[in-house]
Amino acid sequence: MANLDPRSRIFVAGHRGLVGSAIYRALTAAGFENIITRSRSELDLCDGTAVDRFFAAEKPQFVFLAAAKVGGIHANNTQPATFIHDNLSIQINVIDSAWQHGAEKLLFLGSSCIYPKMAPQPIREEYLLTGELEPTNEAYAIAKIAGLKMCESYRRQYGFNAISVMPTNIYGPGDNFDLETSHVLPALIRKAHEAKVTGSNEMAVWGSGNPRREFLHVDDLADASLFCMQHYDDAIALNVGVGEDVTIRELVETVRDVVGFKGELVFDSSKPDGTPRKWLDVGRLTALGWQARIGLRDGIESTYAWYLEQGGALAAE
Ligand code: GDP
Repeated sequence: MANLDPRSRIFVAGHRGLVGSAIYRALTAAGFENIITRSRSELDLCDGTAVDRFFAAEKPQFVFLAAAKVGGIHANNTQPATFIHDNLSIQINVIDSAWQHGAEKLLFLGSSCIYPKMAPQPIREEYLLTGELEPTNEAYAIAKIAGLKMCESYRRQYGFNAISVMPTNIYGPGDNFDLETSHVLPALIRKAHEAKVTGSNEMAVWGSGNPRREFLHVDDLADASLFCMQHYDDAIALNVGVGEDVTIRELVETVRDVVGFKGELVFDSSKPDGTPRKWLDVGRLTALGWQARIGLRDGIESTYAWYLEQGGALAAE
């Protein structure tokens, strides 16, 4: 078990992102006093020399690797070089420097898109590398697979306590609401809100509406990450999800209801559907004693409230 105490030196890589900021909030709320952060302008995680210098000086004991180049289906599909380059660079630099400079433990955040496109459902951890990936986010998935294999390899060769968790689709306060690069949930919240305030009769939904996705609130993921940092010490990359999924059509109906948009939905079949389903089997994590708590409707309500607090669509530009 990891020796975390309130004075432990904990580095949250990517503390301004959706996941990193939630982990930072959870650590602060749990009473941790020595949380180390660096903004991108202070430390470029793609720069190996700078990352090595940072670890040599700060010597964090525990590392949450939540920094990543992320985006929705369109961003992944159109910028594969950036996704593979940035994620591989960040992972190589942070995982290796953490080990080189004596960190006790590192938690790497992956993604459920690492699994084969046609994996049996729900997806168990052992289905990794048993089939072809979904092409729209293959570059990102390959980088994340390399990251979890790096953790596994450093554990096997050097005895470094590096663990990996593979969350399903994440959403919540701090999300990206840019319609070109965001994931589906923030995009739908913004589209429904803008359609409502402009009095439009319709809102566009990408694809057929038939793909199924599972949605985990980022505060649940942060809670699971702290739980795993404290209670999980194994090589297998653990699935983190809520245990159930919905169709995009069902999702948009809930968003429409929460936002109060009464118009029509127009499905745009020129946009890709992506993988048909990625429903995670969370049996392993449940058996360890962790379960998600935030229901989808409640989570959408609080995310919409956060979006409105930021000034809605205008602030999201
Ligand atoms: P994925 O889970 O990697 O496929 O990423 P996304 O969250 O971007 O997309 C999930 C699904 O939602 C895909 O089938 C998209 O086509 C669909 N979708 C529907 N409307 C939108 C939208 O406005 N933005 C995005 N990003 N996806 C949308």
